[in-house]
Amino acid sequence: MNNMFIYMLTFLGNMSKVNDLRVTLGIDDIPKKWYNLAADLPAPVPPPLNPITKEPAKPEDLLAIFPPSILKQEMSTDRYIDIPDEVREKYILINRPSPLQRAKRLEEMLKTPAKIYFKREDLSPVGSHKTNSAIPQAYYNMKDGFTNLTTETGAGQWGSALCLATSIFDMDCTVFMVRISFDQKPYRRTVMQTYGGKVHASPSPMTEYGKKMLKENPDTPGSLGIAISEAIEMAVKDPNTNYSLGSVLNHVMLHQTVIGQEVMMQLDMIDTEPDYMVGCVGGGSNFAGFAFPMIGERIKGKNDTKFIAVEPSATPSITKGKYEYDFGDSAGMTPLLKMHTLGHDFMPSPIHAGGLRYHGMSPMVSLAAELDFVQAVSYDQMETFKAGMMFARAEGIIPAPESTHAILGAIDLALKAKETNEEKVIVFNLSGHGLLDLVGYEKYINGTMESSVKQA
Ligand SMILES: *Cc1c(COP(=O)(O)O)cnc(C)c1O
Repeated sequence: MNNMFIYMLTFLGNMSKVNDLRVTLGIDDIPKKWYNLAADLPAPVPPPLNPITKEPAKPEDLLAIFPPSILKQEMSTDRYIDIPDEVREKYILINRPSPLQRAKRLEEMLKTPAKIYFKREDLSPVGSHKTNSAIPQAYYNMKDGFTNLTTETGAGQWGSALCLATSIFDMDCTVFMVRISFDQKPYRRTVMQTYGGKVHASPSPMTEYGKKMLKENPDTPGSLGIAISEAIEMAVKDPNTNYSLGSVLNHVMLHQTVIGQEVMMQLDMIDTEPDYMVGCVGGGSNFAGFAFPMIGERIKGKNDTKFIAVEPSATPSITKGKYEYDFGDSAGMTPLLKMHTLGHDFMPSPIHAGGLRYHGMSPMVSLAAELDFVQAVSYDQMETFKAGMMFARAEGIIPAPESTHAILGAIDLALKAKETNEEKVIVFNLSGHGLLDLVGYEKYINGTMESSVKQA
């Protein structure tokens, strides 16, 4: 009888307390619209320029490689854009909506009064947020009558996401994978091939540009710039083929906002307003998707949250780059984008967070930073892997090398909260898991990892 009484009391106690260890949503909560920050930013997003005339690029210039419906989204300033039902349904396949989880053991290890939450984009079948945009991109291309997509991939995350998406919509996908990754990351290649993707080591004999590069230097390790040029060449030449990009452009930021809209619902459920939202930035898409809906609210004066973008010290585009027009690729073929850039010929050191090795930054994230809605910090990979190891031991998830940057950003803030003894709320985006990036962890563990500063 006594036991029963205690049981009842604990039961009632738990009922009154909202459990915030894992905040989940149902399938019907998958957002119905994407959110476009361009509608709320107090200044217009500068348009892309034609590299020859330096005039704003005409949609016709871009129709050679993008479908009309994607171009419309790229230029849109509408606040909300409907997510087609077919896309919402496919979002279920990539485990949307994803949980918001509390890093309770990490808090305990740090002995911080801060509360740390993280959004689980690692639960997509290919292990990162990139499928959030790959699925709508494949869908709109299919709807507009295109049967084949080309793209480039470095570390392999974007290539895997696009191959999964094209397989879902019965399309073909050709991926130009930077030669050195093709050789070093055979499992990423296998993932893409499992979904039916055709994967070529770049430079390849499939394109004129690739042939030229191979002739000049048969042993070249390749680069993202070369791979982009090959993918674009193939898309320009074939009327059924388009090109698809996994970050940087406005429509990619837009698609990713399912992340942040879910986070807002989840924070509402636990009645919490974050002091900080933290994400890593390569081209800016996971950060934008995670933070833009809350930045929109901040612009309207509805929250006081600070938004922290974390970059590697090897490619510090926001913290050290210039805000100016530059090419999106290294070969200088794409339209010019107004963004934080280290220069399109900047050669980043070979850090393990391959997804963050980009000279530029999304024009929308750049503008938000320029207007002081976003603060940027940068860290060395030696420190970020240390944070990644700690997170794995605390929460059980081996994070992507890219995501270790966000983790360290969150840990730094939690330690500051400890110094000032404040119960700050920190939410970070876990953009992906690192189970296909174990070489970095191996090097960290056996002591052969180098500081990114030494490599530069
Ligand atoms: C690609 C990638 C990134 C970087 O790209 P963004 O467009 O800046 O998000 C970050 N994390 C993971 C896991 C990635 O795959």
